[in-house]
Amino acid sequence: MAKLTINEARCKGCGLCITACPKQILALSDKINEKGYNPVMMTDQEKCIGCAFCATMCPDTVIKVEK
Ligand code: SF4
Ligand code: SF4
Repeated sequence: MAKLTINEARCKGCGLCITACPKQILALSDKINEKGYNPVMMTDQEKCIGCAFCATMCPDTVIKVEK
């Protein structure tokens, strides 16, 4: 199981990482960050395979994946 660190303050809610995740475990949260966007969140940590597609896809390096 991999650990995801999401820098919520930097996320602009573009959803690219959500589309990229093969396990469909990323979603936009109901929270609003200081930029006025809904930041992405992990919905099921158990299912994460650590592929880092989400981190690779993010244009703002919001997501960090650690195995
Ligand atoms: S590391 Fe892979 S499985 Fe885990 S959240 Fe990112 S895209 Fe999804
Ligand atoms: S790709 Fe990056 S900026 Fe876009 S929603 Fe995902 S974490 Fe946020």
